[in-house]
Amino acid sequence: MIISFDLDDTLIPGTKQFATLERSFLQKLWKVEKLRMGTIELMKACQAKGHKVYVYTTSYRPPRRIWWMFYLYGIKLDKVINQQVHNQFVRMPTKPSKYPPAFNIDLHIDDSKGVEMEGQQYNFKTIIVREDNPNWAEEILAAIG
Ligand SMILES: [Mg+2]
Repeated sequence: MIISFDLDDTLIPGTKQFATLERSFLQKLWKVEKLRMGTIELMKACQAKGHKVYVYTTSYRPPRRIWWMFYLYGIKLDKVINQQVHNQFVRMPTKPSKYPPAFNIDLHIDDSKGVEMEGQQYNFKTIIVREDNPNWAEEILAAIG
C-alpha cells in the first residue's frame, strides 16, 4: 500500500499546535523543521510492514529539501509531492487541492476537513487527524492493519 502524509498542521505545527520531537544539534544546524511526536515511529512501522511512505503537501517547499529533512530524522521517504508536482500531474478542471489517485496513493493522512470532503467527492481514502489527539499515530497504524 502507498500511504501519503500532509505536512502543515498534520506533521509540522503551524496554525495547529502539538507536541514535537526533540531536534538534534545537526538538525538545528540544518534548520530542520519540527516534526510531530510519533511521526518517525509511525513512518518506520509503515515501511517495515512493506508500505511506501510519501509526503503530499500543497506547499512549495522543494521536494529535495523535504526528503533531506526526513532523512535527518532517519526516514527515507519513497516520494515527495509538493504543489508544483501536483500542478504538473493533476490537471482536472475542478482543481481539487489534493488528488492522491494521480500518484497511486491508497491512503492519505491530513488535518483538513476539505481534503476529507474531496476524498468523498473524488473517491479516495483519507484519515483526518486532529491536533489534540495524542494517539493519532497508533490509530493510523491500527487502521492500516
Ligand atoms: Mg494541512
